Amino acid sequence: MGFKGKGGTGTQGLYSRGKSHIVCRRCGNRSYHAKSKECAKCGFGKTPKLRRYSWQTKSFTGKKLPRKSVKKTRSKK
Ligand SMILES: [Zn+2]
Repeated sequence: MGFKGKGGTGTQGLYSRGKSHIVCRRCGNRSYHAKSKECAKCGFGKTPKLRRYSWQTKSFTGKKLPRKSVKKTRSKK
């Protein structure tokens, strides 16, 4: 337990008062809203099933997204 490297979660008491999201019992992420009693990540408290959306997973079939192919072209000399 500790703060990972630089940035991220180490707010160190700045927002310690009234934390809205606590550790979720189901998914283990700190995304369970203590007041509204539902997890933002897995939907615990809101839905008995895991909260899932199609846009969450990258491996969905059917639609092809027009993704930019950023290929670095090496210029050979
Ligand atoms: Zn959850």
